Amino acid sequence: MSIPEQQWAQVVESPGSPPVYKQIPVAHPGPDEILVKMHYSGVCHTDLHAMKGDWPLPSKMPLVGGHEGAGIVVAKGDLVADDEFKIGDAAGIKWLNGSCLSCEMCMQSDEPLCPHAQLSGYTVDGTFQQYTIGKAALASKIPDGVPLDATAPILCAGITVYKGLKESGARPGQTVAIVGAGGGLGSLAQQYAKAMGLRIIAIDAGDEKKAMCESLGAEAYIDFSSTEDVVSAVKSATPGGLGAHAVLLLAVSEKPFQQATEYVRSHGSVVAIGLPAGAFLKAPVFTTVVRMISIKGSYVGNRQDGVEALDFFARGLIKAPFKRAPLSDLGKIFELMGEGKIAGRYVLEIPE
Ligand code: NAD
Ligand code: ZN
Repeated sequence: MSIPEQQWAQVVESPGSPPVYKQIPVAHPGPDEILVKMHYSGVCHTDLHAMKGDWPLPSKMPLVGGHEGAGIVVAKGDLVADDEFKIGDAAGIKWLNGSCLSCEMCMQSDEPLCPHAQLSGYTVDGTFQQYTIGKAALASKIPDGVPLDATAPILCAGITVYKGLKESGARPGQTVAIVGAGGGLGSLAQQYAKAMGLRIIAIDAGDEKKAMCESLGAEAYIDFSSTEDVVSAVKSATPGGLGAHAVLLLAVSEKPFQQATEYVRSHGSVVAIGLPAGAFLKAPVFTTVVRMISIKGSYVGNRQDGVEALDFFARGLIKAPFKRAPLSDLGKIFELMGEGKIAGRYVLEIPE
């Protein structure tokens, strides 16, 4: 297979400016890297945060965003063994593009916390292009026979919510409140929660998201845009009115991050995953102590979380809706995303 010198990509030239669809050179893989011909890439809200420069972490500029890329290995470095990746294998490029594998974090399988981590679509170019580089050690093997379009959102959204649910400590039969349930992470969170035997309260806005959440397994849907007292509404939807055993915060606004401890059950956990710009977590010390509430952050997943999340998907347990659109439509998708108008995920078709 011949690899071209130039390729189509969506490039953000400076923070805050929309992506430009243009031709750029194809990169060559280093000794420990693979070059993946992208077939599909999901669009995560993180890509929009990166475009806008929302976070106190500098990104490269100009930047090719994207970190939910599914495709086929077309070239690899000399250090990549055939049992890692062969030419022609299906591979996934995730947010964690590479890590040092030798620091204390990497040594104890916390590679997302590696201080030298390289991030796809943030510190290195990502999956909104025809050919993307990834470190072989961190790239995902995609199980045989699964469709690559539906696999793409698993690579960030799926792994992240699966990890978050494990971090919550919620056990089968218990209730999890999913805040931002109608979005990309939220739609997958409902499917993983269901597969893990959890009961679901979905919180988001609008009737399209309501219908989607009910079809994905939510027992209750609370519309934050029209419900006067969200806290009471969540509590009354839980067994005994005692609150949710766990709360997964996936929303892109600060308010629910301040509210969640009010409707979590005593001894329950609040897991922050969404990353709204400039937001703070705030909770009263008194009730947090006397109700023994845990508040924690959860950040993507390690390599094994990735294997497990893909395995749930390959076994047919995870079916979340997505819409397909051409790579050239990324700017329009960012606009819809910024307005909170996307139910589920968009998956970009990368041109051949
Ligand atoms: P999305 O835009 O698809 O979904 C966000 C949803 O939140 C929308 O449906 C929106 O309506 C909803 N929402 C907004 N305000 C709300 C409120 N007050 N109450 C309830 N719902 C509300 O975004 P996404 O791609 O699912 O990403 C969600 C967030 O997670 C982003 O901030 C993203 O950067 C972050 N993220 C974090 C990690 C991690 O590892 N921690 C990984 C991936 C994404
Ligand atoms: Zn993401």
